[in-house]
Amino acid sequence: MNYQELVNVYIKLDSTTKRLEKTEIISDFLKTIDDDSIYDICLLILGGVFPAWSDKELGIGDKLLIQAIAKVVGVNKTKVEEQINADGDLGIACEKLFLNKKQTTFFAKSLTIDFVFTSLQRLSDISGNNSTNKKISIITELLSLASASEAKYISRTIIEELRIGVGEGIVRDAISQAFNIDKKVTERAHMLTNDLGLVASVAQRQGEVGLKKLTLTPGKPVKPMLAQLSPGIKESIKEMGEALCETKYDGIRLQIHRVNDKILIFTRRLENITLAMPEIVKLIDENLPHFDFIVEGEVIATKNGKPISFQNILRRVKRKYNIEEAIENVPLKVFLFDVLFYKKPMIDEPLIERRRTLEEIVDTSKDEINLSDMIICTCENANDAEALFKKSIDENHEGIMIKDASEPYIPGLRGKKMLKFKAEPETLDLVVVGGVRGLGKRGDFIGSYLVALRDENDNLKTVAHVATGLDDETLEYLTGKMKEYELSQKDNRIFVQPKIVLEIAFSEIVKSPEYEAGYSLRFPVVKGIRSDKGLEDIDTIERLKSMYKE
Ligand code: AMP
Repeated sequence: MNYQELVNVYIKLDSTTKRLEKTEIISDFLKTIDDDSIYDICLLILGGVFPAWSDKELGIGDKLLIQAIAKVVGVNKTKVEEQINADGDLGIACEKLFLNKKQTTFFAKSLTIDFVFTSLQRLSDISGNNSTNKKISIITELLSLASASEAKYISRTIIEELRIGVGEGIVRDAISQAFNIDKKVTERAHMLTNDLGLVASVAQRQGEVGLKKLTLTPGKPVKPMLAQLSPGIKESIKEMGEALCETKYDGIRLQIHRVNDKILIFTRRLENITLAMPEIVKLIDENLPHFDFIVEGEVIATKNGKPISFQNILRRVKRKYNIEEAIENVPLKVFLFDVLFYKKPMIDEPLIERRRTLEEIVDTSKDEINLSDMIICTCENANDAEALFKKSIDENHEGIMIKDASEPYIPGLRGKKMLKFKAEPETLDLVVVGGVRGLGKRGDFIGSYLVALRDENDNLKTVAHVATGLDDETLEYLTGKMKEYELSQKDNRIFVQPKIVLEIAFSEIVKSPEYEAGYSLRFPVVKGIRSDKGLEDIDTIERLKSMYKE
């Protein structure tokens, strides 16, 4: 199939903000596909060429793409940059430059979806010597065969910013609609495989029967089950009947897989960080059985045996060199709390059974690896949970988790069956979409950051400028990142791709016409950079509104 056909779908999707219309457009298109290209098409509609479980990235920065565009259009880089600044969008700028291109390519063969997809996939495999030139040559080849509208969407896909307002939920509903499949079946297949391309191709070829056979696979990470806030320890336990109350550790969440005798460690964003944590790989290898499994836990950084701020562990994760030194300087401690797969998928079993399995398979006798500190609570012994909370705070942890003992594990769900109760006031995770250059001493830095949250259609809505809580080192780091993600500049303002997630504390939520959300934050302070979180993890207007009401 020609790529232009997909581009026509992108254009239609771009022309509406309505979720149902978008679903219909995709569903109608999927029905017309009768071959394997449905896999590639679903991933391309989601803006990428790898399934969500894969941590592969195209890794192409704007600068490289600008070079390739300049080469194909026959202008210099400055001209491309000026056009991007004028339009505030790389894709639109690219399309305009293509429309004004002097020389057109005659007898050019049409771009096929397969060619675009495989060329983009190839980009992520290039490394080492001469890699920049090799990447530019692949992009140049693609763009030189592209029409103006194709160039717009290829360039947006390359910088992983498709901007057609289509998230996984819409594609999932479109698959159900196109192949007449119960939404719950598609949802479950998606949750277990984390690969909508696969879900679409199985739905197309085998329908509901095939989808029901899809299951968890060690080696392919799934989205973690997430927590909501508990209104109060006793109230939550009462509602659940029987609850597992556990210490809430302030580190990062790990999903650890053993597959064919190989151990893989993933973050909550499903990034593979195995190489950054060789000591954890060794611990898992030595203290858990040599069968395929998926377990989950929290890893914290320690000093003299005591937990220290989770920013330390984020730095450990990012480290690529001198890992041995880091192992000495920032010792890690793992607390396992769940098992999703042990010889077979286990997510449908009640939490209490999964915990029993975990206790059976993890050898904690040598004190090298830990299970989360846990007590089983009902109304009768709810005081014990309060004591656990106090102990957790005294030991410098964050609070407690309260989990319904009878619940299955539902990947990606933020429901009422897993709750957190923390000592500190709630914060919001917001994404940076722009910034303002500082004044005086901070003139070299972006001093103030424009942050946004998500609405119900996954559109970003600005909610505040935050300029406090940043030391010079963080300011320098963030300013560098802002340059890397820059989309456009105007006077002393800069607009960036939504890539940096900040955890923001504040004194109050107030109504405000000044920001797109209709609300703003009083005295916002940056608590930390959440590089373990992505756009999909940021807070929603819905949550903001409910916090406002509270
Ligand atoms: P939050 O990030 O504030 O939404 O809190 C939920 C997170 O707490 C989870 O995603 C885990 O990373 C972390 N956590 C720490 N201890 C536990 C525990 N015992 N059980 C589950 N999650 C935990």
